[in-house]
Amino acid sequence: MKSGFVAIIGRPNAGKSTLLNSIIEQKISIISPKAQTTRNAIRGILTDEDSQIVFVDTPGIHKPQHALGEQMNKEAISNMSGVDIIYYIVDATQDFGGGEEYIIKLMKNTKLPVFLLVNKIDCLNKDQVMNKLIEYSRKANFKEIIPISALKNDNVDELLKTTKEYLEDGIQYYPSDQICDYPEQFIISELVREKVLLLTNEEIPHSVAVVIEKIGRKKGKLIVMAMILVERDSQKGIIIGKQGRMIKEIGTLARQDIQGILGENIFLELFVRVEKNWRNRKAKLQQLGYIQMDIDDE
Ligand code: GDP
Ligand code: MG
Repeated sequence: MKSGFVAIIGRPNAGKSTLLNSIIEQKISIISPKAQTTRNAIRGILTDEDSQIVFVDTPGIHKPQHALGEQMNKEAISNMSGVDIIYYIVDATQDFGGGEEYIIKLMKNTKLPVFLLVNKIDCLNKDQVMNKLIEYSRKANFKEIIPISALKNDNVDELLKTTKEYLEDGIQYYPSDQICDYPEQFIISELVREKVLLLTNEEIPHSVAVVIEKIGRKKGKLIVMAMILVERDSQKGIIIGKQGRMIKEIGTLARQDIQGILGENIFLELFVRVEKNWRNRKAKLQQLGYIQMDIDDE
């Protein structure tokens, strides 16, 4: 399965949230007839037979008032190490200006592929669209330049198709039927991880990761299935322990902490899986947590 993370950046009003909704709505219509609200979604998750793309919507980038703010913006973008692709979305109905120049400057040092998405083409005629594409193509070295209308869902399929070509084989980060992220998810996986490290001492390396396989609510109770990923069979054995005693204790301690923090009852089921080459993928999950904290909840 191909999987990866896409950050959506751009000035306020460029159409970031509209694009995310447009992508995820397609998904809803495919997999779930009951439209779920994406009100609190920070990430949209698109899963099909052979790929999973996790989209991270970021707050719009404003030009900061002081140098420190600028430095922070710059680091936020060039250090997006957990992300595989950047979508830089611009409003084609607006003239190119300082705001765009600023973002392009921020992205200058990134090694990630940047897709320029020229949005709102439904408001322009063909010539105008063409001129915009040419104008922007001179501004930076974009890997792809794709005209879209996020609102009218125009050319979004093409965008997704191209995106998949850039993704590498990886694990599935979220269950197939999950379309948006639960904010609790990161807290839960970190607490389980903490207990694993606490109870296994030095035997389990810090590269151990915890992925939430399933999460949902039933009768007011949070139901969670979490997968502990290790790199070797011997580590799997340690975590399960004699007659499953170790994993049971990890679960008990984690559940107590999670209930304390979230203030609600939780049913927690743990599994262990050996996943080779996990280590280099781990930064991605870490990154997820950091990004989440930086997001506004408009
Ligand atoms: P964000 O600040 O980047 O998240 O921008 P939003 O997604 O909130 O969009 C800002 C405004 O632009 C909203 O009024 C959208 O309806 C509008 N908009 C977004 N995409 C399109 C588009 O493709 N065409 C048109 N005509 N309007 C769009
Ligand atoms: Mg937005």
